[in-house]
Amino acid sequence: MDRDRKLDTDFIPLSLVGSESPGWDGEWRDGALADGFSRPIKNLRISVTDRCNFRCTYCMPEEGLTWLRRDQILSYEEIERLARIFTDVGVEEIRLTGGEPTVRADLPVLVEKLSRLPLNSLSLTTNGFRLKELCKDLVDAGLERINVSLDTPVAEKFVHITRRDALPQVLAGLEECEKYPQLRPIKVNAVAVRGFSEEDVLAFAELARNRPYVVRWIEFMPLDADGAWDRDDVLTGAEIKAIIETRYPLVPIADDRIQVAQRYAFADGAGEVGFINPVSEPFCATCDRIRLTADGHLRTCLFSTWETDLKTPLRSGASDEEIKQLIRSAVWRKEMKHHINDPGFQPASRSMSQIGG
Ligand code: SF4
Repeated sequence: MDRDRKLDTDFIPLSLVGSESPGWDGEWRDGALADGFSRPIKNLRISVTDRCNFRCTYCMPEEGLTWLRRDQILSYEEIERLARIFTDVGVEEIRLTGGEPTVRADLPVLVEKLSRLPLNSLSLTTNGFRLKELCKDLVDAGLERINVSLDTPVAEKFVHITRRDALPQVLAGLEECEKYPQLRPIKVNAVAVRGFSEEDVLAFAELARNRPYVVRWIEFMPLDADGAWDRDDVLTGAEIKAIIETRYPLVPIADDRIQVAQRYAFADGAGEVGFINPVSEPFCATCDRIRLTADGHLRTCLFSTWETDLKTPLRSGASDEEIKQLIRSAVWRKEMKHHINDPGFQPASRSMSQIGG
């Protein structure tokens, strides 16, 4: 069977899948979720909303998108139940994403619910705009790690790329995080775009050297709502590393955990930076991630062109076991890799803000 082919989830009876999977021994065992390539799947990204208070040019149009209605998105109780089921089948790490997760009311309530699950890490990706206000409540609720999206430390450029004059609030949010030693690491993620990001690289390197932040650059991916992505706009991790090394030598950090980032320390020990290179150096071979959209659909790859609806069965009285079977069947069909670099690349069926990074 050509496992790379996009398969309709209802197409293959479960009895035909999983026979070689570590979680299968005549019936499914909890706690060992794996895909058809035997990659263990332990990392779940949960989008809590498709809405955002920024309008980043590489993500969505100025006017925004057609937002999901309130009744279409999962309630915190539904997210909690699904998250528990995912941990039952083997998920160990949960990251909350959006849109922008902090625009959803009472986010610490959800964090507190999820913090009761047997997780190795509970983290959040945010644009940082509301972080100063929410940080204490999120940490008290059990948040352990944070990723703050910041594409430039220059105010005018920040306005240009986010269409919001909000850099001071984001920097204040980062400073607020520093007050909570239990909230580590504090990661700063910058989307790298050719012709925009080069001149900020050394300023970001200084930030990583002088503050307790791990600064990482993410290559620009074809997930923008406008479909305007162009390979020529991709500034690669290798190019950014070379810019840093014009001033500061870097040494690789050995880390055998599954990582999306290539981690480097400054040779003089003054901090850490990282490079996430999905376009120039794809890391799909060790991918352990799946995603739950705000409206309850399971995506097995950022670039999936198909999804599995978990919300409808959840709201129609399906048992935990029935939902586990849907999850396992979908994960078994997880895509081998993205095809950004292949002829005939099909864009993902949703844009980044509707998937949640
Ligand atoms: S593109 Fe898909 S398979 Fe590759 S690392 Fe990202 S989510 Fe995993």
